[in-house]
Amino acid sequence: MGEKKKKTIKSIKIDVDKCNGCRACELVCSAFHAAPKYSSNNPARARIRVISEPLKDIYVPVYAGEYTAAECSGRDKYTIDGKEYDECAFCRASCPSRDEFKEPDSGLPLKCDMCEGEEEPLCVKWCLNDALVLEEREEEVEEEEEQEQEELEIGLESLAKKHGMQKIMDALARMSKKD
Ligand code: SF4
Ligand code: SF4
Repeated sequence: MGEKKKKTIKSIKIDVDKCNGCRACELVCSAFHAAPKYSSNNPARARIRVISEPLKDIYVPVYAGEYTAAECSGRDKYTIDGKEYDECAFCRASCPSRDEFKEPDSGLPLKCDMCEGEEEPLCVKWCLNDALVLEEREEEVEEEEEQEQEELEIGLESLAKKHGMQKIMDALARMSKKD
């Protein structure tokens, strides 16, 4: 068993009743992640997207989560205020079955990184309606586990740089089909 270590877990609490669909969160997220930083803004590049149903005054911000190499076989259907939503509507994954949370030019998956390096996530800062609120808690994790995860992420990143993301994604897709 490895040593226990304290880790700060960040999450963003979303209050859909406070969101008015202004999409400031999408804009600032895409600007922050533009290269160079703040050189452009394009909500298609944001790691958050707001699902909107203006006639019913429904707005649901969804954060980009993990990349998945294969689409899932069990899906959920939501009915909100009488409207039925597409079964993938609120999913956080960057997935082969749809275009959401993919960099529009390269097709690379997008994932929320909590605005790494910033004191506060920018979408939280720019949401003037307080629909997004940062929460932080401390958790004890196995040091080895954390290190393995970090190494895996660094490993994938350098593989992607060397061979191109598409090749890595294809290889992952093939591997997941063999299971
Ligand atoms: S900035 Fe806040 S109110 Fe505006 S769309 Fe995003 S979550 Fe909703
Ligand atoms: S926390 Fe940062 S990276 Fe994540 S969605 Fe908000 S602005 Fe984008």
